[in-house]
Amino acid sequence: MVNNPQQSKLPNVGTTIFSVMSALARDHGAINLSQGFPDFNCDPKLIQWVQEAMLAGHNQYAPMPGLPLLRNEISRLQAKLYGAKYDPDTEITISSGATEALSVAMAAFIRPGDEVIYFEPAYDAYQPNIELHGGVSVPLPLSQDGYQIDWDQVRDNLNPKTRAIIINSPHNPTGSTLRPDDIKALKAILAEHEGIIVISDEVYEHMVYDGQPHLSLSAYPEIAARAVVISSFGKTLHTTGWKVGYAMAPPALTVEFRKVHQYTVFAVPTPFQHAIARYMQEEEAKILNLKHFYQQKRDYFLQEMKGSRFEPVPCEGTYFQLMRYDQISERSEADFSRWLTTEVGVAAIPVSAFYGHETNAQVVRFCFAKEEETLRRAAEKLQGL
Ligand code: PMP
Ligand code: GLN
Repeated sequence: MVNNPQQSKLPNVGTTIFSVMSALARDHGAINLSQGFPDFNCDPKLIQWVQEAMLAGHNQYAPMPGLPLLRNEISRLQAKLYGAKYDPDTEITISSGATEALSVAMAAFIRPGDEVIYFEPAYDAYQPNIELHGGVSVPLPLSQDGYQIDWDQVRDNLNPKTRAIIINSPHNPTGSTLRPDDIKALKAILAEHEGIIVISDEVYEHMVYDGQPHLSLSAYPEIAARAVVISSFGKTLHTTGWKVGYAMAPPALTVEFRKVHQYTVFAVPTPFQHAIARYMQEEEAKILNLKHFYQQKRDYFLQEMKGSRFEPVPCEGTYFQLMRYDQISERSEADFSRWLTTEVGVAAIPVSAFYGHETNAQVVRFCFAKEEETLRRAAEKLQGL
């Protein structure tokens, strides 16, 4: 029955592209610029502090909503960076990565028949999570130039069944970011449509480049009052394998969120939470410096790729760089990514994997969260095409 599409709740879903491309990279010994994760280690202090927490006996269940110390630190930094006010007791929940927070938010708020608007290309977890709960996906295209939201189109798609809008800024995979005009448009829509909530995926909040600020939806009280804002320490601390993230939402939404969270994972590993809370207290400067750290990597990769037949798409944030390859090949993005991995030795992600329908813009995504030497070797191979 397992593979019988009639029995499947997700008949059109296969294995996520991130697992597929990483496995292909491994099998072919390719440099893996596909799945988004750093190839360098996190700060050794973090590792030491996890160890210290374990030795100190912090090895049993953490409180269901998360360690109070960590929630306090998140609340403090959120206020400092965005002027946002979140009560650590009633408005912040530690999750098993942003993935769990996204999934829990959708389970808690989407009822059968509810419509959920999001923007394509879209992170691949959104659509299956919507549909798992009987929701109806309403993917709207980002503009071809600059990957911006077309708010007129959003308005055209609003109806009494619209339950949520998912926003992702900085945006995976395109690297685009929200503008003040987007905030204005979203505020106006929420004011006119009372039943809509916003799920704001801000996992790349500390990776916004060229002196631009991150426009967190937590910063705007009218929006924050209706939003679940989600972030992840996996991105911020180079610890994607620890799976520690969090969701911030007003008390009424947090109550519903925790009803599901408590029966999904109940709690998140205790020693990691201790170490992260301490890191936020003692090493905040490193978190705030992340944008410079990754901007340098983006610029290094672009420099190394200069003169190649790949054409970079401007990247304002995230640790992903899109590259157009129409001067190199006529293959589809999926075929080109496979070929790059198996024949050239550099793994990438086809942007078509971020759409619910077939598409081909001849653009692939490279992750630049890598040592310079990795980026240099990859660029050397790509320069030959
Ligand atoms: N949202 C986006 C846009 C992401 O790119 C990712 C992961 N890389 C996640 C959510 C999931 O984050 P986590 O690894 O903390 O589960
Ligand atoms: N978010 C990461 C990416 O976009 C991958 C996360 C995952 O593998 N689930 O590459």
